[in-house]
Amino acid sequence: MIPISKVQLPDEVEGLVLEVLRSGALAQGRMVEALESWFAETTGATHAIAVNSGTTALVAPLEALDLAPGAEVITSPFTFVATINAILEAGARVVFADVRLDDALIDPDAVDAAVTERTQVVAPVHLYGQMADMARLAQTADTNGLRILEDAAQAHLATRDGLVAGSGDIAAFSLYGTKNLTTAEGGMITTSDDELAAQLRILRNQGMRQRYEYVMAGHNYRLTDVHAAIGVAQLPHIDRSTENRRHNAARLSEGLVDLPGIAVLSVAANSNPVWHQFTVRVTDEARLDRDQLTVALAEHGVGSGVYYPSAVYDYDCYREHPDIDITPNPHAEQLGREVLSLPVHPHLAEGDLDQIVSTMRRFLDD
Ligand SMILES: *Cc1c(COP(=O)(O)O)cnc(C)c1O
Repeated sequence: MIPISKVQLPDEVEGLVLEVLRSGALAQGRMVEALESWFAETTGATHAIAVNSGTTALVAPLEALDLAPGAEVITSPFTFVATINAILEAGARVVFADVRLDDALIDPDAVDAAVTERTQVVAPVHLYGQMADMARLAQTADTNGLRILEDAAQAHLATRDGLVAGSGDIAAFSLYGTKNLTTAEGGMITTSDDELAAQLRILRNQGMRQRYEYVMAGHNYRLTDVHAAIGVAQLPHIDRSTENRRHNAARLSEGLVDLPGIAVLSVAANSNPVWHQFTVRVTDEARLDRDQLTVALAEHGVGSGVYYPSAVYDYDCYREHPDIDITPNPHAEQLGREVLSLPVHPHLAEGDLDQIVSTMRRFLDD
């Protein structure tokens, strides 16, 4: 079976983790610093602040921004649930702006329409490794005096219009086990706002500025050096593995683009995604529906996945939630019914790509 994702760490991981274990200095230290430096360098942000998950990387800036009561955060209705859980945890209201059907990214026109006088933050999601239209969203933020928090959990090193993911106002990266760069669990915040960065460093460490000088009620959001070492060991390899993902995505696109009933998600001009997932829409015209196709692929050794099976709010716990504004989001709902992700991970062989394409064609070609 060709798995939908495969975690295969470089050999150096074991040595580096062992070095940390033997050093006896296990908590946040020089490995965390090395990982932070890499994020600051590659994004061009002045500051990178490591935390213990991608979810925390979203929560912490929202807490540090000290939003007004009733503050609204506009985000995508088609995302992983952590995006909205983070907004709720920070005490803000979730407002949705629908995504575009062709690329599953937040629609800047919908964001403009969703802005009210209570809006304080726009939180676009760089879904599947393609950046949202940050140039357009920055204009909206400027016009309305809003902050931008990029959910870059799936988008390490993605670029669009000359901007790199994490180079904007504030960004949150995940380092979870299956993300393009991993520490098993972990997260990273990037920003060039000096004051916010200082607040975040204090917030993650129990609100402590100097030893036993507490200036706010903080948290323990720290990443360990044991975990950071896992990530640091991958840094020399990440350009190569990102290139592999791009190569694989190009092969899949080429092989599937004309297939009846399949709509490959579009990539904007001047956009260079990092292909956390390669996703197509299985439309009404397809000879098999999505569930049948998934089963047929599995029977022929091709793994696949549905990210995500519905709009993010379409669960009882959110539908009735007092802090979520649910408006109709027809594109998110349609994508929930149609999306299917195929293996694109960096360890695919050319033969695997041939097999994925030929199996799809076998079941869907006229
Ligand atoms: C993975 C992910 C998160 C959360 O990251 P964790 O490290 O799992 O907490 C947030 N948003 C999106 C879009 C993600 O894919």
